[in-house]
Amino acid sequence: MDWIYSLVVGFVAVLGLLVGSFLNVVIYRLPRECLSIWRQTRSRCPRCGVQLRWFDNIPLLSYVILLRGRCRGCGARISWRYPLVELVTCLVFLGLLFLDVPQEQIRYIDLAFGGWRLWAMHVLITSTLFALSVIDYDYRILPDALTKPSIAIAPFLVFLVPELMPSTFWEPFAGGEGWSPNLNALVNGVMGAGAAMGTLWSIGWLGSKAFRKPAMGLGDVKLLAGMGGILGLWFLLVIVVASFAGSIIGLIVLAIRKDRYVPFGPFLAFGMMVVMFRGPQLLESVLDFMSRGAAH
Ligand SMILES: [Zn+2]
Repeated sequence: MDWIYSLVVGFVAVLGLLVGSFLNVVIYRLPRECLSIWRQTRSRCPRCGVQLRWFDNIPLLSYVILLRGRCRGCGARISWRYPLVELVTCLVFLGLLFLDVPQEQIRYIDLAFGGWRLWAMHVLITSTLFALSVIDYDYRILPDALTKPSIAIAPFLVFLVPELMPSTFWEPFAGGEGWSPNLNALVNGVMGAGAAMGTLWSIGWLGSKAFRKPAMGLGDVKLLAGMGGILGLWFLLVIVVASFAGSIIGLIVLAIRKDRYVPFGPFLAFGMMVVMFRGPQLLESVLDFMSRGAAH
């Protein structure tokens, strides 16, 4: 067994656990506006207020071995969701590593390699979507603090790594040397973000006229604009996938519990993942299915 390879995989796993731990802080503090993510470094028990010590903050291990799921001060149960978020983030980091980085490149942590660059972007996007989904599930909001900067940053991410976008629809810089794929991706990203906001604002406006209540939250619109910034016009397929998945799960939830509200953010996040990784393949099979239906 190649020890450098194992070391890099281990490093990515630990990084995933640490980022998962940070996501827990974001998920807990961001919707509670009185708590700062950066200033107050040490977490407290929500029941008795006792401050966590540094060794209580080790991802996964503290919960399982040291605390055994209970607060050191008052013995209150600590939600199993904290270690779960850390574990899921760790697995996502590893999964994306094997998906994005070719086996022979894993030994070298180097952003000069396309695979590592793609991985860095994918973990950033996935982590943000994960935090947003959990916050939306908990509080029924998608905080501006996450969605608004995403809209501004997204086109620059595809400028840096054009491979993030399944394909471009318009290429004003085609045929040139050097930066042209990056510039095309940037133009398409800005176009996607603008189109997402325009389309959804119109749908929302029509919906509010027809039903006299907002059809979609503004948070969803801002999130989709950020997705348009990365996917270009492929954001339209995100709406299709999210609505389809949302309807199915929504009906199941409605059948079990009539009063349960189903947030849309997690479905948008799911749609984004599907389209970012398998958008063209999905579109092709849907079109194929429809044309076969038309032939009969
Ligand atoms: Zn306590």
